[in-house]
Amino acid sequence: MVDNYGRSITYLRLSVTELCNLRCRYCMPEDGVCKKRHEEMLTQEEMLTAIRAAASLGIRKLRVTGGEPLVKPNIVELCREAAATPGIEELCLTTNGTLLPKLAGPLKAAGVHRLNISLDTLEPDKYRYITRRGELAQAIAGIEAALDAGFDKIKLNTVLIGGFNDDEIPALADLTRRWPVDLRFIELMPMVDGEFGPQAFLPCAAVLEALPEAEPTADDGVARLYRLPGALGSIGLISPLSQHFCGSCNRIRVTADGKIKPCLHAAAEYSLKGLDPEGMRAVMRDAIRNKPAAHLPLSAREPSRAGRSMNEIGG
Ligand code: SAM
Repeated sequence: MVDNYGRSITYLRLSVTELCNLRCRYCMPEDGVCKKRHEEMLTQEEMLTAIRAAASLGIRKLRVTGGEPLVKPNIVELCREAAATPGIEELCLTTNGTLLPKLAGPLKAAGVHRLNISLDTLEPDKYRYITRRGELAQAIAGIEAALDAGFDKIKLNTVLIGGFNDDEIPALADLTRRWPVDLRFIELMPMVDGEFGPQAFLPCAAVLEALPEAEPTADDGVARLYRLPGALGSIGLISPLSQHFCGSCNRIRVTADGKIKPCLHAAAEYSLKGLDPEGMRAVMRDAIRNKPAAHLPLSAREPSRAGRSMNEIGG
């Protein structure tokens, strides 16, 4: 479908759960989420109906996210059904990686094409701090399991946090020499439950200052791409604050409680819960038509109007 501003909407990000086994400080509160009632959440069947409805309207790329998608029971089955949906050409999944040692093989066999794995630091103490509980070794084992399972074009997502991981930019970038992976540095978005204030915001330009040897290569839509000499993968800079990409945004999001969000940083939501396939298609059409031209200015001092934390929306 084409929205009112001529953008072709071909990409759905579906959050399959709000729950997570980590508690990243910029993403969700320490005590987790206020658990919604089971009846408020989309059932697995409703998620599949939503995927089919979206595919029939022209969605071609699906990203499964969360919360942490791999804590959802039956995630492999959901991915298998999603991959087999007519029209879905690319199935991707975003994860913190800690459960991949067990699940990378089954996800690959189920038809997941690509993985994004979040990794904000290479120091075990800092990993424990930022995730409030995680073990770096598990995330690294997850990346290695994904490579062993045959995933290619793996992306590692690093949120840039001033005073936390700016000193690690060269070491993180060096991962593109150690593994055939693309590393993407993402500017910290000021979300409702984020713990960091404006002083932690670091523009992507800081990456280039820390990596003078990085050479620009072709861009891939939302990311500006660079490469280190001798590297196996690229380095991408994603700048939702310093250079937003609303003009070419081709995505909608569906939350685990069944709300379509046509824009990550706007409050508008359209409910899919309890609808039949035709009802879902009608609501999706409406949401796509009403996708805003751009979100309101977002800066380290002007927080997102999303009205939800990232784990409730799906990053
Ligand atoms: N649990 C999975 C994971 O860790 O990748 C998927 C969900 S997580 C919400 C998806 C992505 O959103 C992660 O890469 C995370 O770093 C990113 N994210 C969460 N909060 C963010 C924020 N305030 N600014 C920028 N990125 C954020």
